[in-house]
Amino acid sequence: MSKSLFIGAVLFSSVTLAAVSLGQGPPPGAGPGGAPRGPRPITLEQLTPNVYWVHNVGFGAFIVGDKGVIVIDTGGSPGVGKQIVDAVAKVTPLPITTLILSHDDADHVDGIAAFPSGMEIIAQENSKKFIADAIASGDTGPEAPKVPAAYLPNHTVAKREVRTIDGVKLELLHWAPAHTNADLVVYLPDQKLVLLGDLLVMDQHDLPLIHMEKGGTSKGWIESVKGVLALDATKYVVGHEGVVGRDGIEKQLQAAVAEREKVKQLYDKGMSLADIQAAVGDPIPPPPGVKASPAHFPPYSEVLYTELKEGKY
Ligand SMILES: [Zn+2]
Repeated sequence: MSKSLFIGAVLFSSVTLAAVSLGQGPPPGAGPGGAPRGPRPITLEQLTPNVYWVHNVGFGAFIVGDKGVIVIDTGGSPGVGKQIVDAVAKVTPLPITTLILSHDDADHVDGIAAFPSGMEIIAQENSKKFIADAIASGDTGPEAPKVPAAYLPNHTVAKREVRTIDGVKLELLHWAPAHTNADLVVYLPDQKLVLLGDLLVMDQHDLPLIHMEKGGTSKGWIESVKGVLALDATKYVVGHEGVVGRDGIEKQLQAAVAEREKVKQLYDKGMSLADIQAAVGDPIPPPPGVKASPAHFPPYSEVLYTELKEGKY
């Protein structure tokens, strides 16, 4: 056993018993897509002997390989990115050699400047284009990714790639435009573990969160989630949540398919969006006495209605 592996093993045992709090820093909490949610401490959860989930950064995970560390997503600012880098350093002295971007929403890529230079940066090909276009145009608006040119993804995946990185066997998978047009799922077949990014989130009334403005589609979402469920896996890690059961994913898929059909039936009858939403119960009205807050993202029913209206269903 090499010295670094030995150190890794000792540190590994020290974080096995409980999640490790890494202290308060800049607000790491963010809703899907980047809505601020107030400060919450970053904690680590060990999912398998070498895979860790970073709580409270939106989506953050890392895999400790034999010579380096593979990180998935960066947090939504360099401050949060640094917290992720520091969290990795508390677990292993090995360097971060690889960064995989699950997609290009701000809360998943804007922490990238805190990461070491010279990494392999892997993204779905549409993400690389989105980031490259933002760099080329000099767009610094709120929706533009804050990725310096030196951190442009240097390896892209179209649909599927099987890799072994630092001794870790993984599959990088993209089925169709779903949450965005650039979702990249990481599947670890030996550990039966799937890292979904925001392909599936649990806090949007347990219905799909689809960014139409970034090319996401309901049809592609259903195809992608069916693809995930067809993998030989027992652990599923989703954005803004962590590990969820297979039953929760199946439930959301069933609800998504049912509401998609229902909204089409009602749309074909000529019903308005408001009437359709009242009929399907999405968005769910707030409990009595609670003021409705403006939704940060269009609810699934509105996505479906818009797809029908624009001939994109
Ligand atoms: Zn997202």
